[in-house]
Amino acid sequence: MVKVYWDKGHGGTDPGAVGNGLQEKVLTRKIVEYAMAFLDAHYIVEQRCSRSGDESKTLKQRTDDANSWGANLLVSVHINSAASASANGFESHIYPNAGVATVSFQNMLHAEIMQVMRAFGVTNDRGKKQSNFHMLRESKMVACLTENLFIVNAYDANRLKQEEFLKAVGEAHARCVLKFLGLAGKPVPQPVPTPQSVPQPANATRRVKIIDVSSAAILMDKPDRINGANIGTIPKGAIVDMVVPVAGFNNGNTGYYKVVYNGKTGYINAKFGQEV
Ligand SMILES: [Zn+2]
Repeated sequence: MVKVYWDKGHGGTDPGAVGNGLQEKVLTRKIVEYAMAFLDAHYIVEQRCSRSGDESKTLKQRTDDANSWGANLLVSVHINSAASASANGFESHIYPNAGVATVSFQNMLHAEIMQVMRAFGVTNDRGKKQSNFHMLRESKMVACLTENLFIVNAYDANRLKQEEFLKAVGEAHARCVLKFLGLAGKPVPQPVPTPQSVPQPANATRRVKIIDVSSAAILMDKPDRINGANIGTIPKGAIVDMVVPVAGFNNGNTGYYKVVYNGKTGYINAKFGQEV
């Protein structure tokens, strides 16, 4: 199965960039978790990330982990910072002179993320860069690092404070990964087939046949074999229209059928009727 390694930038004792009440390590974790959840829900892929919670991991531990696991692709997610609070926008990085596959992945990822960010009012595309970063240099697979806006910039930080922005950016990363790797979709669960029901006319009449009596069943004025009055008899073998089965009184679990016989509506002991 195809393996994708997600690096949640920083973590633990290293908060990464801080500013405007935000910490980079918190944001990178959220973005990656949105990306992983998106792929996990819909695609056949194996995913691993550099930290599940807020652990401290060195850069070497991260690339060693990705390399020994045999990842096919590595995505390292970061938030940018600068001395000047006016710095803003999005940029992506690959290792200098990386292969064509890496360049192609950066092109796709960069375009996908910028498109989503534009929808949130981010206009500054700082470009596709080549950088001698540890995560890109020491990883053996196609790798790209994203710097998702500037934490020190008030306008950028206002976007980073929106959960829906982090989700959209995470899912943009995920969509690009699935396109680049050509991931297959998970089979859509098929609904359990329901038993074929026999089509019935809307007002189908139910009928019961009189059985298990010596000659006739007694038709009663109420569903109560002790207190009901006899209003007629229905001969054995007759088939009559049945209105509804009722529990009634004094007949335990057996109950009664409300039936119509010769224009009279009454009740018979259900043990003398068989629905036909
Ligand atoms: Zn960072």
